[in-house]
Amino acid sequence: MNLNLHNIPANISNTNSEPVKVVILGSGPAGFSAALYAARAELQPLVLTGMELGGQAALTYTIENYPGFPEGVGGAQLGELFQKQAEKFGAKIEFETATAVDLSVKPFRVMTYDREFLAESLIIATGASPNHLNVVGEKELTGRGVSYCATCDGWFFKDKKVVVVGGGDSALEEALFLTRYASGVHIVHRRNELRAGAILQKRAMENPKIHFIWDSVVDQILGSEKVEAVQLKNVKNGEVSHFDTDGVFIFIGHTPNTQMFQGQLELDQNGYIITNMNMETSVDGVFAAGEVMDSHFRQVVTSAGMGAAAGIQATKYLENQEETKTTQAA
Ligand code: NAP
Repeated sequence: MNLNLHNIPANISNTNSEPVKVVILGSGPAGFSAALYAARAELQPLVLTGMELGGQAALTYTIENYPGFPEGVGGAQLGELFQKQAEKFGAKIEFETATAVDLSVKPFRVMTYDREFLAESLIIATGASPNHLNVVGEKELTGRGVSYCATCDGWFFKDKKVVVVGGGDSALEEALFLTRYASGVHIVHRRNELRAGAILQKRAMENPKIHFIWDSVVDQILGSEKVEAVQLKNVKNGEVSHFDTDGVFIFIGHTPNTQMFQGQLELDQNGYIITNMNMETSVDGVFAAGEVMDSHFRQVVTSAGMGAAAGIQATKYLENQEETKTTQAA
């Protein structure tokens, strides 16, 4: 394997000399659940939160399918509860982002922008990031009408007309959320059939503010200072048209945040970390949980479950290591 160690600075002075028993990368449902289990095993896990405290779930306005909350719970609120519960049992939270790892040595090395941590075991819960359309105007107008988060930016589109791209659960859920503010929400989907689940489909179809533009893709995003229109292309007949809009919300799936593990861990063809049922990766002592290794379920509850499993397995791994040391010493 070619190790992807190019991000590792030659000498970081700020190294914690004592290895931490469990370092957890990521603070979404998987990361905090792993932290809760490792903390209850008295391992004082260290969570490096990453850029998005609470992960993608924290950007969701209401989560209606997390058990125990029959009325739903705010994504950010659930994230805070996860954090509080992990901290209560001794998890330490650092608002740092891992930029590189070295999994070829033990203890493992985890680098952030200006610090280095040594870890006896590592749980990767770095999640996934929203995909981009990669069309002209998208990058230039991001933050000026182009958005990947309705909960964060919806408020800016009060009484305005917006386009939502995608036909999955995220696109419909976010489109429904946007109807709180926008005067009209136009969902552009590349097929004439939605991928989203039946409940969301029904809600969207019944919402008078939501309209569908089928068999079409956004070819270009137009505007000088801010989004003014999109260029649409009908994929069936090739027809190109302009559609005036104040905003473009893009929900076309995700890419796992695994760049720094390339060449060090086995990844599948889409870049997801490969694990077995015990959340074990191809490197002994390194575990992965949540959307960084799961492209199928991608629910808060499944990620939390996988995080718990990773926490349990990391505990078992450390116990075995300890036992081996004791046997060797005897
Ligand atoms: P997704 O299910 O992969 O859907 C992505 C959508 O974007 C699809 O409709 C796809 O079209 C479209 N798309 C992909 N690339 C495109 C491109 N380049 N141009 C135009 N359209 C493109 O992603 P998601 O909606 O983010 O959901 C991910 C997972 O999270 C799913 O398992 C979902 O069930 C789950 N989720 C669940 C909930 C919930 O339970 N409430 C909420 C959000 C997400 P095609 O359909 O033609 O492929």
